[in-house]
Amino acid sequence: MIVVMRPTATSEDVQGVKRTIEENGLEAFLSVGDERTVIGVVGSDLERVSNLGTLPGVDQVIRVSSPYKLASIQEPGERTRVRIGSVEIGLGSELVVMAGPCAIESREQLMETAHCVRREGARILRGGAYKPRTSPYSFQGLGVEALKLLAEARETTGMPVISEVMDTSDVEAFDEHVDLLQVGARNMQNFALLRAVGQSRHPVLLKRGLSSTIEEWLLAAEYILAAGNPNVILCERGIRTFETATRNTLDLSAVPVLRQKTHLPIVIDPSHGTGARALVGPMALAGAAVGADGLLIEVHPDPPTALSDGDQSLSFDEFGGLMDELRRLQFVRGAADNRTPIPERPEVTGSIDDLRDRIDDLDTRLADLLQERGALALEVQQHRDPHVHGHDVRRERDLLERAAHGAAGPMTPVELTMVFDAVLRASRSVQRRHGQAEVRRESATAANDR
Ligand code: PEP
Ligand code: MN
Repeated sequence: MIVVMRPTATSEDVQGVKRTIEENGLEAFLSVGDERTVIGVVGSDLERVSNLGTLPGVDQVIRVSSPYKLASIQEPGERTRVRIGSVEIGLGSELVVMAGPCAIESREQLMETAHCVRREGARILRGGAYKPRTSPYSFQGLGVEALKLLAEARETTGMPVISEVMDTSDVEAFDEHVDLLQVGARNMQNFALLRAVGQSRHPVLLKRGLSSTIEEWLLAAEYILAAGNPNVILCERGIRTFETATRNTLDLSAVPVLRQKTHLPIVIDPSHGTGARALVGPMALAGAAVGADGLLIEVHPDPPTALSDGDQSLSFDEFGGLMDELRRLQFVRGAADNRTPIPERPEVTGSIDDLRDRIDDLDTRLADLLQERGALALEVQQHRDPHVHGHDVRRERDLLERAAHGAAGPMTPVELTMVFDAVLRASRSVQRRHGQAEVRRESATAANDR
């Protein structure tokens, strides 16, 4: 934290600030300039001096470190993977599509939708049981009856299920019937609810509030993490702006912004983000392209008759078309694809010298293998147009996914992913260098020919 004093601040003012900092067990470092004095504050509990701005002579207080300790990344590229039943989301796992009706209206409507979205490749079934409606006269949801139907749909389809919890007193019932608890946009700052879901044994999907900044959103996530639940997923669902052409303004830049700040998985909800069926597909693809870990999409057997959010719900055909497009662009795989099995952990025994020799041997082989990989990457580059150095996204995705699943050894998925990230970057650098040299050679030949 940095305290900037006013140009008119007296030395008593400066000393007063310094004293307050030290009395709170923190350290103060003064930097006296010609015009102003600046004071650096260092220590683990900066909250203790959160009101330094009110002291005489203080102009501004600037926070340097993030106020959300658990949600923030500790090292570049750090990512968390959250498990929802049999499905994993985040850290290089495949884009997870969650789909289903806005509100559960009947057993028939839910089961029909569940079978459709499963067939089309969705991994998680959504369905609202308690609906936060703007008008008290609108359909409010079937409540616990709907939770039971969701649990039944999970039984028959094998898909984990997500539903929105609105009241702290319902968390127990949700824990019984649901695999992923949703905290809706309107409740993003319902702190009692955040603490309650923080005590749930299930992961939580936290939607961004209608008018919330990214910092407020991450602090809301911090409530859940601090209450003891490490499995939080963030969901961008559009924010209120002056624009009226869409229901909300879907802030896709939130994805790369969040990647710089947090390790938590990120989901895009293009249904609430746009409010219009025709816009859901394009914004879902854009969300996948910008690197979201998942999508949350409303689907209904007959959208015009839906009791809630019919305008933004996709029909079965429309959802199928979107899934085809996601598959064509290789954001999701075909149903027949199987995951690479987890490798066995090698047996490691011997004296310390033996072990070190084996490490040296491995390092030499690794260097040789990396050079061989570089040579192959170059060969691939030579078969391509030298003006482009595009790489095969699907294969990179597969590699990162294998890394994310190769957690049977002592290296964590984060560590393995860091290694493969570096390998891919180096490989692209080799190709780019070669591509540039080729383009230079071509233009020199062209100049000679003229
Ligand atoms: C929902 O997902 O059905 C919902 C009500 O979403 P939001 O909280 O984003 O409005
Ligand atoms: Mn809805």
